[in-house]
Amino acid sequence: MRLVFLGPPGVGKGTQASAICNHFNILHLSTGDILRSEIEDKSHIGLEAKSFMDQGELVPDTVLLKIIQNKLNHKNAQNGYLLDGFPRTIPQADGLNQILLELKQALDIVVSLDANEEELVNRLIKRSLDSGRSDDSPDIIKQRQRVYWKQTAPLLEYYKNLNLLKDVNGIGEIEQITKRILKAID
Ligand code: ADP
Repeated sequence: MRLVFLGPPGVGKGTQASAICNHFNILHLSTGDILRSEIEDKSHIGLEAKSFMDQGELVPDTVLLKIIQNKLNHKNAQNGYLLDGFPRTIPQADGLNQILLELKQALDIVVSLDANEEELVNRLIKRSLDSGRSDDSPDIIKQRQRVYWKQTAPLLEYYKNLNLLKDVNGIGEIEQITKRILKAID
């Protein structure tokens, strides 16, 4: 099983991705989490990524593609994986296609989780109270939303054209949404 989760910041991608990965026993690859752990380790990648992340901007595509290529080549990805937060731009999606081609793999589906903007900003502001994330201030949250609509939302059309896209309503109880996703995957 190879999945991609798309959706705006605050839609609950991370929470749902964990539940789905437990269900199918596949690897959860959250590029946000990977980058935050690189920052914590003060690695080269972390140092490069931090200034972009703190401003709510995207980290350069080449950095992300290198990370994903490494992760997908690892043997713990053989059972399948869920990409959470990647791809986020058309060049990343093109790069992913190339990596998959080399690995002789294909995506099964792309899940698009959606909610209205007001709900999203409210959730993020609530989350910011205890997340401790340096990119969770109201201004940066709004910037991340703008970046999503401009750079990432075009991927919805991209994957729709590849016949891979399934829309799932991201408003409701956590477990109810998990059930909707499982049904979409079925
Ligand atoms: P959210 O979905 O709440 O915005 P993430 O944890 O997915 O949060 O990402 C946090 C930040 O990490 C992004 O704002 C961006 O700077 C960086 N990032 C994560 N994934 C990518 C990606 N695929 N391409 C570029 N930057 C990314």
